[in-house]
Amino acid sequence: MTTAGTGRFGAILDRIEKETAALDERGRPADYIPLLAGADPRRFGMAVAEPDGTVYGVGDWRQPFSTQSITKVFALTLALSLDGERIWHGVGREPSGNPFNSLVQLEYENGIPRNPFINAGALVVTDRLQTLTGDAAGLIRELLRTESGNPAIDFEPAIAASEAARGDRNAALAHFMASYGNIANPVPDLLAAYFQQCSITASCADLALAAGFLARQGVRADGSALLTRSQAKQINAVMLTCGTYDAAGEFAYRVGLPGKSGVGGGIIAVVPGVCTLCVWSPGLDQRGNSVAGVAALDRFTTLTGLSIF
Ligand code: GLN
Repeated sequence: MTTAGTGRFGAILDRIEKETAALDERGRPADYIPLLAGADPRRFGMAVAEPDGTVYGVGDWRQPFSTQSITKVFALTLALSLDGERIWHGVGREPSGNPFNSLVQLEYENGIPRNPFINAGALVVTDRLQTLTGDAAGLIRELLRTESGNPAIDFEPAIAASEAARGDRNAALAHFMASYGNIANPVPDLLAAYFQQCSITASCADLALAAGFLARQGVRADGSALLTRSQAKQINAVMLTCGTYDAAGEFAYRVGLPGKSGVGGGIIAVVPGVCTLCVWSPGLDQRGNSVAGVAALDRFTTLTGLSIF
C-alpha cells in the first residue's frame, strides 16, 4: 500500500480531497438503520486500486465503514460464477426508476424484481446463494477478504441487529416475493443472511482492491478466473444502469463509470482495464447515494478524462 502523491493518480486525489473538504452540502447519514445515523458527514476517504494490486488513497481511505449495498455486486458475482445464467430466472436487469427499497413494481411484475441491485433483487440473489452454498454472507465475506488481501474484513453484528430491528420493509419485500414462489428459503433465514451480508465492514482500500476483478475482465488478484470476460462486462453494465438506483442516469451523466453505492456512504466505481475506485462519505442524498462521494467521482473522471465514454 502507498499513499496518495506516489500513485499514478495521487496528485488528482490530493486535489479532490481539498475540493471535497470545501463542499457545504453533504447530505445526511441514513437514519433508518439507527446505528448508521450518528456517522459524521464530514468524513471522507477515497482509494484507487490499479490492476496490479497497487492501492493508495486520501483522507479516511483506510477507515472501515458499513458496506451495505456495495455487497450486492459481490453477491451477484458469486451467483453468476457458481450458477451462470440461472440467476436471471428470478431477477431482471433493467433499471427500476424507483427507490432501492420500493415495493410498487413487484406486484405488477409478478414478484420478479427489476434488477439485482435494488433490495428486492438482492434478496433473490442472496436466496439463491443461500440455496447453493448454505452460507451466502460467509461466502461474500470470503470473497472480499481474498480479493482485498485483508483477512480482518468481517460482519458487524450490531449493525445487522440494528437493521433487523427496523427490517419491516425488507421483510415485506421477501414475503411478497415468496408468495410468487420466487424465494426458496424461509424468509427469516433469508433476512438474517441478507442483514449479515449488508453489515460487512471494510475500508475504501479494501473495496477498491476487492472490486479489482471488474477492471481485469473477471480475473482475480491471484490470476485465476472468477468470471468470464463476458460476465465481468455484464456486471459492469448492470452497475452502470442500476448501481445507484433511481439516480443511475444522473450518475452515468456525471461520472460515466459503472458504480455501486451503499447507504453506509460508500461507492465503488470501475474504469475497466485501468483502475477501481472507492469513495466513502456518510452524508446521503434523497436517493441514498453519498453526496461527497458522487462529487468526488465526478471530479475524478472530469480531471483525468477517464470514463467508459
Ligand atoms: N441494508 C440496506 C437495506 O436493505 C442496504 C440498502 C442500501 O445500501 N441501499 O435497506
